[in-house]
Amino acid sequence: NLQDKLDRAFKVLKGHGSITEINVAETMKEVRKALLDADVSFKVAKAFTDTVKEKALGQNVLTSVSPGQLMVKITNDELSKLMGGQAANLDLSANFTIILIAGLQGSGKTTFSGKLARLIKSKGKRPLLVAGDVYRPAAIDQLKIVGEQIGVPVFTDYESKDPVGIAEAAISRAKQEGHNVVIIDTAGRLAVDEEMMDEIARVKAAANPQEILFVVDAMTGQDAVNTAKTFNERLDFDGVVLTKLDGDTRGGAALSIRAVVDKPIKFIGTGEKLDAIDVFHPDRMASRILGMGDVVSLVERAQQQIDEKQAAELQRKIRKNKFDFNDFLGQLQQIKKMGNIKDLMGMIPGVGKAIKDVDLDNDSFKGIEAIIQSMTPYERQNPEVISGSRRQRIARGSGNDIAEVNKLLKQFEEMRKMMKMMNNPSKMAGLMRNMP
Ligand code: GDP
Ligand code: MG
Repeated sequence: NLQDKLDRAFKVLKGHGSITEINVAETMKEVRKALLDADVSFKVAKAFTDTVKEKALGQNVLTSVSPGQLMVKITNDELSKLMGGQAANLDLSANFTIILIAGLQGSGKTTFSGKLARLIKSKGKRPLLVAGDVYRPAAIDQLKIVGEQIGVPVFTDYESKDPVGIAEAAISRAKQEGHNVVIIDTAGRLAVDEEMMDEIARVKAAANPQEILFVVDAMTGQDAVNTAKTFNERLDFDGVVLTKLDGDTRGGAALSIRAVVDKPIKFIGTGEKLDAIDVFHPDRMASRILGMGDVVSLVERAQQQIDEKQAAELQRKIRKNKFDFNDFLGQLQQIKKMGNIKDLMGMIPGVGKAIKDVDLDNDSFKGIEAIIQSMTPYERQNPEVISGSRRQRIARGSGNDIAEVNKLLKQFEEMRKMMKMMNNPSKMAGLMRNMP
């Protein structure tokens, strides 16, 4: 019945004023779970959710974005920031650029070398691929085939067992033949070992690359983080390439790697084909990790719809404790503009399950709207004048019971009290201490 609907609608609305009113701790628990599911290490996940919690509790804004949505937005933004914020690019402005590709066997180095060469070629550069994996003849063949597919020459030496010599010879050949980018593919072991580390460090010293990219299989989860750490200690690489993100891997390794080695993730591999490469976008990865890309765009949509001036005016009114039924009606309409209220709520971590069986839709507001619309302009601005006889008239006019009108007025009064409290920092702090 309407009474229940009012109750529920008010639950939503009460959470509408300030982010401190939703259960931040509960939400962060959900986010932490999502991060752990996505292979983010516990330490990183914990530190991250603590940061977001702190940020969220510090916010005390009153806009048309609900606290839940704001929460999602903060989480997403922080996650994105943690992964570098902006997409990191390769610097190819020099006349001659040497790029060294490192990583474990099977991580996708050879495939990535081809993808990168193709991308660079499409930008008008003249790359040369170098087959530096001297242990398996099949590896040299593999790079040759890749080179043929994309029309990029490949430097090979089937006789040599010396990757340092190969790199040096390839670089001087590249200069002679007018190439301006050299991509050195290297060998990798199944696990990190001293010999391999030693070899790649020697190739680095001889080739003096402008860019060392560490390639890692995103599907290996926590192992990827440890491998990244070891390679970074030895090579001090410039960027990370996260491959095999085309499966259902959620990519949490990206977050942990970034947190552990503090190097940007520059590219991602999204398939076996040579065009399956993307520049790494921290914001997209953040959404992917949290598995709520839709929510983020919803939040953005909602934020677009906020009239900044209106929000400022609203805040001014609340500060002066002049929030009235006209403002209230405006807020209701803002919420409805954002789309289906239950869908919106359902996408917020932790909330979806809770409201699954609740009959909450945009109609929940109809009764409230009818009551407000039956008030005179004077009554809307001065709710305190709404006496018994006025209440009776409003009830009749809106087709409601007087009990429902009483209830709305009472809840409105409570809301105003809460807003008054929000204006009072010490009371607010008390409220926050009581939060779980
Ligand atoms: P390397 O040993 O490090 O040179 O690894 P390879 O380039 O030979 O790749 C190992 C395997 O992973 C091959 O079967 C590739 O086709 C595959 N692979 C590489 N990158 C990706 C990717 O982004 N997605 C998928 N699905 N497979 C990939
Ligand atoms: Mg290879």
